[in-house]
Amino acid sequence: MPPPNHLHPNHLYKVCCLEMIARLSEYIDNDLDVEMHTTVKRHARVCPQCDIFLKTLQRTIDLCKHLETRPLPEFFSQKLRKKSWKML
Ligand SMILES: [Zn+2]
Repeated sequence: MPPPNHLHPNHLYKVCCLEMIARLSEYIDNDLDVEMHTTVKRHARVCPQCDIFLKTLQRTIDLCKHLETRPLPEFFSQKLRKKSWKML
């Protein structure tokens, strides 16, 4: 097996984009083993499509975590209350 530096960049595509996308949430949660984590990271570096997807997913997750720590904005809860009144 040649050292990783001698690998042609195309070898990074051995993990196809679909598999990448399936593993992105595990990647963000640091649930992958080191080898898979590195493969995903390298793939995102050479595949703009997956890079954008990864960044979007990362931002969405960050946003969700951020929202969890805050109470709902007032207009949201008002809307919800109106909705539930209508349902009564
Ligand atoms: Zn890709």
